[in-house]
Amino acid sequence: MKHKTFNIAIDGPAGAGKSTIAKLAAAKLSFVYVDTGAMYRAIALYFLRSGVKPEAEEEISRRIDGAGITIRYEDGTQKVLLNGEDVSGQIRTEEVGNMASAVSVYPAVRAHLLKLQRSLAASADVIMDGRDIGTCILPDADVKIFLTASPAVRAMRRYRELTEKGIVCNLQEIEQDIIERDARDMNRETAPLKQAEDALLLDSSGMTVSQVVDAILKAARDRRAETGEDAG
Ligand code: C5P
Repeated sequence: MKHKTFNIAIDGPAGAGKSTIAKLAAAKLSFVYVDTGAMYRAIALYFLRSGVKPEAEEEISRRIDGAGITIRYEDGTQKVLLNGEDVSGQIRTEEVGNMASAVSVYPAVRAHLLKLQRSLAASADVIMDGRDIGTCILPDADVKIFLTASPAVRAMRRYRELTEKGIVCNLQEIEQDIIERDARDMNRETAPLKQAEDALLLDSSGMTVSQVVDAILKAARDRRAETGEDAG
């Protein structure tokens, strides 16, 4: 008999380290890493390219079906395709991130991605990161993590990440952007960013990457022991 897939949900604010942590934990567990933020970013790119204003909810909702989002894995790395075009590199800018935060507020945009996210989780053991995975997308996830860190720590991490890529940026502006994005993600009506009641809270401000990864692996092992499956 086919077993239900094992799903780990990681939610938290921008820059908490979700993708770094989720990728490492997924590699250790031989799980598929699903980055849902990339899907929202691809939608944001679609509307940025056509010059739609972020506040144009009616137009965005009407045109959302024009943004065909699919996911492909190349050597274990997620690629996000927008109407067949690999946009994985182009979506990594602050401009796209801010647009993603703005358009992800709209129910039609969220509904557009829900089925894709659920079907990925149903088809493989996944670690899925985002804002509403434990609360909305996978309410029955086996392990739920809420990963956070202080705004100053998150801003510094993002600053380093961008600087390493040769992108010139300003730390204060990044921190301001992070604070604004958090406020929008936490205060929206549809699927706001919040800790699920049954999620384990991890504040990574004073933790190393491997301490956070280990905490997640332990939560997965504990869950497997509880449900009687082999420890991974
Ligand atoms: O995580 P990342 O910075 O790539 O996400 C970009 C934006 O997409 C977030 O600021 C958030 O507004 C939105 N998002 C979301 N729900 C998710 C993932 C991302 O609303 N599950």
